[in-house]
Amino acid sequence: MDGPNLDRERLERYSRQIIMEEIGPEGQDAILRSKILVIGAGGLGAPVIQYLAAAGVGTMGIADGDSVEISNLHRQIIYGVKDIGRPKVECASRFVNGINPDVKVKVHHTEVNPNNILDLIEGYDFIVDGTDNFESCFLINDACTLSKKPYSYGAVLRFSGRVMTFPETDSSPCYRCLFKTAPPPGTVLDCATAGVLGSVAGVIGSIQATEAIKNVAKIGELVQGRIIEYNALNMSFEETNIRKNPNCPICGKEPIIKNIKDVEYTGSCTLK
Ligand SMILES: [Zn+2]
Repeated sequence: MDGPNLDRERLERYSRQIIMEEIGPEGQDAILRSKILVIGAGGLGAPVIQYLAAAGVGTMGIADGDSVEISNLHRQIIYGVKDIGRPKVECASRFVNGINPDVKVKVHHTEVNPNNILDLIEGYDFIVDGTDNFESCFLINDACTLSKKPYSYGAVLRFSGRVMTFPETDSSPCYRCLFKTAPPPGTVLDCATAGVLGSVAGVIGSIQATEAIKNVAKIGELVQGRIIEYNALNMSFEETNIRKNPNCPICGKEPIIKNIKDVEYTGSCTLK
């Protein structure tokens, strides 16, 4: 049962994962060697960071420019009262090392933007989008599509959430296949104005963490070519298939977005 990266302590720590034949020592070894970037250490990012740390992800990048506020604590479950006012990346890093010293944390104390995103995602095997705002969703989609990086998208609002995974294959749809442009600012509610139940962010973030682990361990089927919509009020999960759009501006037959710098990531998130 011994793998190249599994000493006695690791075998014990990860025993409940390793014992499952789908993961086994090889899968755990792949997780321990994986490099995953979590963009946004908020309501979605917090459960993602927590479960990826516990699972033994080898290198975890955490990118966020914010500091912890008291209004974050009802859903961003990796922070405590003592963290208020401190940078989220600093607190998240300490939290990860408290769970699992196996994980090497790379802290990126910045918001993602068109100038830094390509450098940020380079070197990671999988990206988790925990930003939950349209500008960053389009930016992360475009950067990951152009760089052929697999990533997970998640969003929450009030009692509902949605989640999709976009692998690096050319045959898979991207976020722009579904939403060509962002809605006009102010026309769509966000969590700050409409609210969100903390545990709903926990459900969607947990799915995103699971997708990341499945991707690096190469097991199961990703939420690929479909969207899962979760409704906590009637406790339902609905699934809708998504086709690749041949006219998609970035992954279609004749793409017009060929460079991140071509796009204005405010408003409708279309070409400058
Ligand atoms: Zn597309």
